[in-house]
Amino acid sequence: MSGEAQADCLFCRIVEGSVPATVVRESETTLAFRDINPQAPTHVLVIPKAHHPDAASLAAADPALTADVLRTAGEVAADEKLGDGYRIVLNTGKDAGQTVFHVHAHVLGGRGLQWPPG
Ligand code: IMP
Repeated sequence: MSGEAQADCLFCRIVEGSVPATVVRESETTLAFRDINPQAPTHVLVIPKAHHPDAASLAAADPALTADVLRTAGEVAADEKLGDGYRIVLNTGKDAGQTVFHVHAHVLGGRGLQWPPG
């Protein structure tokens, strides 16, 4: 159910601390940690601590929490000194490559990024 921790969710387990992660930023409502398979010099995932499967369901259920995630993404970019530019990616659904169904914003930067993405 949206909002409640899911026993079989990898990112809920990172939030509860039973799966380790390299955390770079934490707030009451969000967690930011380094992607295990980085695609750029900076590749950080920002998640709401509450379980929501994807961006659209998060936005529908909790607009304030959606803003928390985006604000945290900007704070991570500032921490990582990505002032020349960065990308926030929210893969949504399997055809977009979403593999973990706990919404996460990829913060990518530190190199030139191609457009359009593949
Ligand atoms: P998606 O493909 O948009 O769902 O992104 C999932 C991301 O989670 C991928 O970039 C993975 O590399 C990353 N990932 C998977 N397991 C872990 C982990 O245990 N720690 C950190 N990142 C992970």
